[in-house]
Amino acid sequence: MTSDLDAVIDALAAGPLADAVQLDAPIGKLTTYRVGGRAAALVMLGGPEHAAALADAVAGRSVELVAIGRGSNLLVSDDGFAGIAVVLGPGFDEIDIPRSGSAPEGDGRTIVTCGAAAKLPVVARATVQAGLTGFEWAVGVPGTIGGAVRMNAGGHGAEMKDSVVDVELLDLRHGRLEVRTNDALAFGYRTSAVADTDLVLRARLRLAAGDPEVGRAEMAEIVQWRRDNQPGGQNAGSVFTNPEGDSAGRLIDAAGAKGLRLGTATVSDKHANFIQADPDGRAADVRALMLEVQRLVRATSGVELHPETHMIGFADGD
Ligand SMILES: Cc1cc2nc3c(=O)[nH]c(=O)nc-3n(C[C@H](O)[C@H](O)[C@H](O)COP(=O)(O)OP(=O)(O)OC[C@H]3O[C@@H](n4cnc5c(N)ncnc54)[C@H](O)[C@@H]3O)c2cc1C
Repeated sequence: MTSDLDAVIDALAAGPLADAVQLDAPIGKLTTYRVGGRAAALVMLGGPEHAAALADAVAGRSVELVAIGRGSNLLVSDDGFAGIAVVLGPGFDEIDIPRSGSAPEGDGRTIVTCGAAAKLPVVARATVQAGLTGFEWAVGVPGTIGGAVRMNAGGHGAEMKDSVVDVELLDLRHGRLEVRTNDALAFGYRTSAVADTDLVLRARLRLAAGDPEVGRAEMAEIVQWRRDNQPGGQNAGSVFTNPEGDSAGRLIDAAGAKGLRLGTATVSDKHANFIQADPDGRAADVRALMLEVQRLVRATSGVELHPETHMIGFADGD
C-alpha cells in the first residue's frame, strides 16, 4: 500500500516541482547547529507557482511538513525527519520599501513588504537606510522573516508583533492562500498561531519615520552587545525561553551547568542559555544536554525550563 508520504513525493516528482525536489535530503546541515539527519524529501520553492503546486500535492494527505528558513531555531534529529521539508528560494526574498515621500499610512507610518525568505539583518539595515525605524532590533538575529513570524522573534525590547500588519500565508492542509492579520496570528512570547502546515510567504511591516544616523548607531550598539555577550559557532541562539520574571541563562548558571559538556555538545561558557555543537557533532548530544540542563535547573531551583528551539524528527516532539 502506498503511504501518504509516498503519494505526496510521487505527486511532487510528476508535477512542476520535479526539478525542485530532492529525496533523502540532508537537512541537518541547513540549520545553524549543523547537526542532524535527512528529510524524506526537500522541496525548494522558486516562486508562488511552486507554492501552489506544493499545496496541490499535499492537500488532503496526512504528511508531516517543516518549513526551514535559516534553520537558526531548529534541532533536527540524527535519525532524520519522515516528512517533507520546504525551503523558500530567492523568489521570496524581496524587500519592498516605498520611496521616501510617497504616501505613508494615515498614522504617518510606512508599510514595508518582505518576502518570507528575506533575512532579518538585511531587512533591519535596508529599513534604517530608507529612513525608517522599528526594526533595528533584528540586525543580530540570523533568521528569515518567515521564521521570525512563526517564532514571534524579538530582542532589545521589541518583537515581530510590534511591526507586523499582516502576513500572506499558504495553508498547505487545505491548499488555501490566506491573509492573516496581526490579531489572528495570536503572537505570544516566541509563539504564534502559525502551524507546521502553514507556510508564511510574505509579511507587511508597519514602521515609523526615523533618522538613519540614529538607527545605524543603535544597530552598531546591538551588534557589539551580541559580540560581547553571545558565542559564535554552531548554535541556535537561546535554547530555553525565559521563565516569567527570571532568565534561563541565570538559572542554568546557578545550577552549575555553564561549560557542561556531553559528547559533542557544550553549554556555552559565554552565555549559559546557548549550546554549542562541535563540527561533525550529533543532535543526540545536543538533545541529551538540553535534558540534563533541564534536570539540573529543576533540581536546584524547582523551575521547569521549556525549549525555545523547535525539535524536528524527535520521538517526543517537544
Ligand atoms: C546566534 C543566534 C542569535 C539569536 N538571537 C535571537 C534573538 O535575539 N531573538 C529571537 O527571537 N531569536 C533569536 N535567535 C533564534 C532565531 O534566529 C529566530 O527564532 C529566527 O526568527 C528563526 O528564523 P529562521 O528563518 O532561522 O527559522 P527556522 O529556524 O528555520 O525555523 C523556526 C520555526 O519557524 C518555522 N518557519 C521557518 N520559515 C517559515 C515560513 N516561511 N513559514 C512558516 N513557518 C516557518 C520553522 O518550521 C520552525 O518551526 C537566534 C539564533 C541564533 C543562532
